[in-house]
Amino acid sequence: MSHCEELLVRVGRGLHAALPRPSRHPIKALDAKGMELASSDAELRAALFRLVDVTPACRSHDDLARHLTEYLKEVDERPQALQAAMRVAHTAPGRAALGAAAATGVRHMAHRFIVGESPQAALGVLEGLWKEGSACSVDLLGEATFTSEEADRYAARCEEALEVLSAAARSWPQRPLLEADSAGPLPRVNLSVKVSALTPLMRPEAPHVGRDDAAQRLRPLLRRARDLGAHLHIDMESLDALETTEELVFDLLGEPEFGDGPSAGVVLQAYLRDSGRQLDRMLEWARASERRPPLTVRLVKGAYWDHEVVEARQHGWAPPVFEVKAESDRNFEELTRRLLDERLTKDSAGKPDPWHPLLRVAIASHNIRSLASAIAHNRASGGEDHDLELQVLRGLGDELGVAIAASGLRVRSYCPVGDLVAGMAYLVRRLLENTSNDSFLGEQQRGASIDELLAAP
Ligand SMILES: Cc1cc2nc3c(=O)[nH]c(=O)nc-3n(C[C@H](O)[C@H](O)[C@H](O)COP(=O)(O)OP(=O)(O)OC[C@H]3O[C@@H](n4cnc5c(N)ncnc54)[C@H](O)[C@@H]3O)c2cc1C
Repeated sequence: MSHCEELLVRVGRGLHAALPRPSRHPIKALDAKGMELASSDAELRAALFRLVDVTPACRSHDDLARHLTEYLKEVDERPQALQAAMRVAHTAPGRAALGAAAATGVRHMAHRFIVGESPQAALGVLEGLWKEGSACSVDLLGEATFTSEEADRYAARCEEALEVLSAAARSWPQRPLLEADSAGPLPRVNLSVKVSALTPLMRPEAPHVGRDDAAQRLRPLLRRARDLGAHLHIDMESLDALETTEELVFDLLGEPEFGDGPSAGVVLQAYLRDSGRQLDRMLEWARASERRPPLTVRLVKGAYWDHEVVEARQHGWAPPVFEVKAESDRNFEELTRRLLDERLTKDSAGKPDPWHPLLRVAIASHNIRSLASAIAHNRASGGEDHDLELQVLRGLGDELGVAIAASGLRVRSYCPVGDLVAGMAYLVRRLLENTSNDSFLGEQQRGASIDELLAAP
């Protein structure tokens, strides 16, 4: 075993040992009889997702119970509890009770992932996280927009979030690890935004149309973030949005008025076969840019795997994503190494300069092997722990976040804010990830040993 692999295993075991006890099996920790059931049966999983999807549109508990029983009819092998649920749905009082229970279940699940209905309502949770050693990035739910008015509303909500969070964060206690790295201060307020919510005109065949429309809303947000000293992070969505997003961010950040700020970031998706070239473009842009704050790159595997595969097959194209999970995992580790190795500017003698990095690196995953590979490579190549950020999703990675913070590393929790209706698409995506057979959390739930979990992909 190489030195770095040995270090990785040690780091991974340390993180695993630091997990609070019950969450060694985190899906079980998510109230999750339903989740467990869903992960064991594809038909049941489909029924659960359809229920989550339809919940906001149901007018009454009776209505919800009728939908639930319709979906369950398509499940061949129903567990006993669901058989009983279907029996009670034959009467009006039974349906009322079943609908109420289903609504409570969905709401409960949603609250695990969504920290508040508005930035104001989320402040308590965000401050609590900060005090426990985790920074946050707030994501305002309400994905693709179809009209300019919706896009304007999303931009206004983002601006309001920047104001509310900045006012509140001033009084949070000092947390040096969350507030600075070798390159300087890190903003306390961090907002993640989606380009598809900033314009209704996103079209892969005409990326400049969506880019120009979104720019009109993103530019004022960048100004506000700069003036408030906040960080703005641009999420990455499905591949159709990639070109628009890349061009938009690089063009805007290149404008002279943003030379000194705000701190900003983009996302690199390791499941894309072309992600290596995407990283080349990021590095090329960063080297040529005269901006002072380094560009933060959040490395993820990618949340739109099913969408990309289905879309490509419909067109008769080869999928743009890897089709074997281990390939995404291997590419994630390869990109991690490249990000860590190439993030620094070099002086004329080729010596790296930690005070003026080109990029800040954020590794976002719930896979302990993927996180450990980043920590180990950073240490093995002489990097400081505080120059690496690890990120988790609220609801899925809470316990892992606690373990990371307890290990003295910087962690940021990605915290969705918004109402339940707007949050349903997000929730279904998280449930899909959570119950997929091909996921680290699924493996962990099935009781895989730490050696299996840390094995090289
Ligand atoms: C803080 C944070 C921010 C995020 N922001 C974004 C974002 O902006 N954009 C975005 O797209 N995603 C984002 N994600 C989600 C992320 O892309 C992953 O979907 C999620 O983290 C699961 O990956 P994992 O490493 O945690 O778990 P793992 O279980 O190790 O990996 C699961 C991932 O592997 C990949 N995969 C699954 N099956 C296959 C297969 N058969 N072949 C190839 N690959 C496969 C998929 O990408 C899947 O999500 C974010 C995640 C976090 C933690």
